Amino acid sequence: MIVLADIGIVVLTIALMELISWAMHKYLFHGPLWFIHKTHHQQRHGWFELNDLFSIGFAGFALWLIWIGHLTLDYRFWIGTGISIYGIIYFIFHDWFIHNRFKAFKSDNRYLAGIRRAHKIHHKSTEKYPSEEFGLLVASRKWFRK
Ligand SMILES: [Zn+2]
Ligand SMILES: [Zn+2]
Repeated sequence: MIVLADIGIVVLTIALMELISWAMHKYLFHGPLWFIHKTHHQQRHGWFELNDLFSIGFAGFALWLIWIGHLTLDYRFWIGTGISIYGIIYFIFHDWFIHNRFKAFKSDNRYLAGIRRAHKIHHKSTEKYPSEEFGLLVASRKWFRK
């Protein structure tokens, strides 16, 4: 049963991460931290953008949790694992599939096309306000229509 509980923590962490990143994106990045996040709404110079600091921060936090929990494999380890998995999904969907930071990753999958449409709407705005669709994996139903 302990295995089920651990899997539960990982799945819950992934779901919570979508909620947390939605809230951070909406209230912090398009708020007081706009001076960093705006580098993601403008033309990028070079491969790195200042906004990547957020991903590095999350990765560092996840690695730290994994490190302090790895001896006993307690909840901290599994929360760190969940954050890491969310980070990998985010990286593949957002940076690779939506923004094409590598060689094109193309797909006609209805779900992927929907979240890409929603995120492109978010990027329509190059300003702090107004903007919409702050989540990544969850978006308004209208973007998934054929
Ligand atoms: Zn944004
Ligand atoms: Zn983006």
